[in-house]
Amino acid sequence: MAEKSFKYVIVGGGVAAGYAAREFARQGVKPGELAIISKEAVAPYERPALSKAYLFPEGFARLPGFHVCVGSGGERLLPEWYRENGIELILGTEIVKADLAGKALISAAGDAFKYQTLIIATGSSVIRLTDFGVQGADAGNILYLRDIDDADKLINAIKAKKNGKCVIVGGGYIGLELSAVMKMNNFDVTMVYPEPWCMPRLFTAGLAAFYEGYYANKGINIIKGTVATGFTADATGDVKEVKLKDGRVLESDIVVVGVGGRPLITLFKGQLEEEKGGIKTDGFFKTSNPDVYAVGDVATFPLKLYNEIRRVEHVDHARKSAEQAVKAIKASEEGKFIEEYDYLPYFYSRSFDLSWQFYGDNVGETILFGDNNPVVPKAKFGTYWIKDGKVVGAFLENGTPEENKAIAKVARVQPPVESLEQLKAEGLAFASKI
Ligand code: FAD
Repeated sequence: MAEKSFKYVIVGGGVAAGYAAREFARQGVKPGELAIISKEAVAPYERPALSKAYLFPEGFARLPGFHVCVGSGGERLLPEWYRENGIELILGTEIVKADLAGKALISAAGDAFKYQTLIIATGSSVIRLTDFGVQGADAGNILYLRDIDDADKLINAIKAKKNGKCVIVGGGYIGLELSAVMKMNNFDVTMVYPEPWCMPRLFTAGLAAFYEGYYANKGINIIKGTVATGFTADATGDVKEVKLKDGRVLESDIVVVGVGGRPLITLFKGQLEEEKGGIKTDGFFKTSNPDVYAVGDVATFPLKLYNEIRRVEHVDHARKSAEQAVKAIKASEEGKFIEEYDYLPYFYSRSFDLSWQFYGDNVGETILFGDNNPVVPKAKFGTYWIKDGKVVGAFLENGTPEENKAIAKVARVQPPVESLEQLKAEGLAFASKI
């Protein structure tokens, strides 16, 4: 079994790994110092594309088109870029054991990778219905979406079950984006989720009413307040029916499940401090082991703006936390000082011709502004969250770049609000004048 040594190893080859590699190159890394070890067979790419343009029936995105860092308007890092920068991409390689005391990672093939500094960027895995023993959940064409392999399985199923029926289990952003692309692929789509409205972790009832209305107008059926409790399969083993808790049975050729993710941290159990389901870090993404950093979905870090410890599963944070960790590693080597991470939570989603952005914290009272009538073309509306008399969060559908910048600024500055009625009346103008 082979053994290789590197100064820096990044385990995981997703969004955070790609942005970390770019930052290493910016800061100066010598050939052979840095390796990225990834289970996936391809160089780091912008994962959000998988539930959007990757699945379009026409004009679809394919690699190498969406390697990092195109998602944030940066240079596209092709496999050659890593070669030219002396960064070793060790692909198709799953790490199955981490010995942090011995500073070594062991792959499924038994190879050892030694490091001086490790960055954990293993991201999340999807929660599967088979994890809860849902009856029949192992039938064919019950699919999930986390990586390119999953997306390719879905594309094959779309081709095999042309113009068929699709049930989407889950009403989060993955469920909403997947429902849209399945409809665009000419499937008869039904969404099923237990909550009273979609995206309940972020959307207010007022926001959700627009998106549910818009989806209904597109011909998507929405069944709320119940869950899938079982599946039946046809003679070939492919899913045929979805049984709901409320007794209904839905025909289905494809089921796509989007019920959340789980940070991949089991490799490090008992070796690093954990908090809120992730690996605990400081504001430089250093873990309880000073030679080990954790970034992206797996990191639970101090969110300075709210004086709280949080874990964030969004692409913007994956990018920025990776850059912060690399800057911190380099600064500590050079005895320099950098500022602590000061993150403003940012999340977005796109489906059909809709596009929203959210900045800040969704706590406190809410004010809906603008026209959220789903039949209005190019509707523009949003919501402010107000806590302790200050705006702490802002959401906007269909904003221009300047308007999105304005709501980001509001969430960062947290201006006081004199009257909620006035805020409602001013709407977007309130953000634009900050
Ligand atoms: P990932 O990008 O998931 O990368 C983790 C990498 O580690 C993967 O390559 C994985 O294979 C590898 N890995 C894991 N374990 C091992 C191991 N043991 N050995 C070797 N390699 C390993 N966020 C938004 O803000 N907006 C969006 O619109 C949006 N859309 C999304 C759509 C989809 C379909 C998905 C799945 C996510 C979306 N996200 C979105 C979330 C965002 O993509 C993630 O927060 C982000 O990718 C996290 O980056 P990461 O580097 O921590 O993890």
